Amino acid sequence: MGCAVARELSGHYNDTFLFEKNPGITKGENQSSRNSGVIHSGIYYDQETRSQKAALCVSGNRLLYDFCERYKVPALKTGKLVVAVSKEEEDVLDLYLDRAGKNRVPGVKRIPGSKVKELEPNVIALSALFVPTTGIVEPTALVYRFHALASRAGVRFMTDTEVVGLEAEGDFIRLIIRYRDGHTDRVKARVVVNAAGVEADRMARLINPDSPYELDPVIGESYKFYAHKRPELGLSGMNVYPAPEAVITPHGSHFTVGVHLTPTFGDSPDRPALGSTVTVGPRLVPVRDRNEWSGPPSPAKIFAVRVNSFFPGLKEEDLIWHQAGLQSRLTGYPDFVIEADSVNPRFINLLGIDSPGLTSSLAISRRVGEMVSELEG
Ligand SMILES: Cc1cc2nc3c(=O)[nH]c(=O)nc-3n(C[C@H](O)[C@H](O)[C@H](O)COP(=O)(O)OP(=O)(O)OC[C@H]3O[C@@H](n4cnc5c(N)ncnc54)[C@H](O)[C@@H]3O)c2cc1C
Repeated sequence: MGCAVARELSGHYNDTFLFEKNPGITKGENQSSRNSGVIHSGIYYDQETRSQKAALCVSGNRLLYDFCERYKVPALKTGKLVVAVSKEEEDVLDLYLDRAGKNRVPGVKRIPGSKVKELEPNVIALSALFVPTTGIVEPTALVYRFHALASRAGVRFMTDTEVVGLEAEGDFIRLIIRYRDGHTDRVKARVVVNAAGVEADRMARLINPDSPYELDPVIGESYKFYAHKRPELGLSGMNVYPAPEAVITPHGSHFTVGVHLTPTFGDSPDRPALGSTVTVGPRLVPVRDRNEWSGPPSPAKIFAVRVNSFFPGLKEEDLIWHQAGLQSRLTGYPDFVIEADSVNPRFINLLGIDSPGLTSSLAISRRVGEMVSELEG
């Protein structure tokens, strides 16, 4: 998000800086390099509680495909199946078909199990939603491109530089930054955009201790398998998702997208093409301490069991560990928060930018650009 926003602002303001506490920036060092790389369509988000996600995912989807085409970032519109294996799951699909209509997601339709078999012979289902605008993108290449464009347009990227304090000062915000060697500096900015991912709530409280938002990050774990290893593992290249499943949390119940199959890119140097690796995940696991979350992975068996109802060929021994990534989920609040701090309007917060944040990155950065332009003209 930081790189996307920097690119958006770079054409309009001369002195744009991005501070990053990690030593590197070009690959997206935190969530942005540890996600599923799915370009979501926008079918999941209801208008009552997740209207920002609905709008920004649908517009972000279009913007992202156009951007990737223009700047040669690997992306493919693979399409997706959301499959139902029981009558109850078919009822859930009805809900999401309705949601797709309300969110104006183009081309979503219900297809019978026989059609699923034609599209993906190794997948079984009573029926499915066919979602043509879902795809995949190479997330690190995307961040790299945002960074390169912003950098070329004059944005200064300060790595190994952590923001450790913030103070409002008239029409400015003072940032206290700390370099790797421990030295600190003070910088005055007219506008600050908080794109600190899983640290964004703490950053928001540095300037406004009463900021009401609290992150409750969750780990998404993934395994992978090689589709060429056995005929039963072959896939034509679509994303395959189960019907969304209900989860009960202390803050209420909601649906999650569930453990799914996602194709990945091969090594073709000339144009984006699918490879043989398919990821299985993410499975969301609670985390006690967001700074010490890289515990041992959950057993592969759990992942095989989770997809076996619709993809019976996958065995525990086919699975190889892929990755874990921390998602910046907000406590008790399911939508993106893109708003100026209530006390300091020159401080713009991006909070709870969990999935579909990658898909929505260009739409969110455009929204931030409009907010900055209202402040600065
Ligand atoms: C497992 C998983 C699967 C996902 N799948 C998808 C998907 O398929 N499709 C999709 O659209 N989205 C997906 N997402 C969501 C997507 O990855 C995120 O929405 C997006 O990457 C968020 O980007 P960000 O820049 O906000 O956060 P990050 O990439 O985490 O970046 C935040 C940056 O802020 C820096 N920072 C923090 N504190 C400070 C400080 N004090 N000073 C300086 N720098 C600081 C960090 O070092 C970091 O580099 C997934 C996420 C996860 C974890």
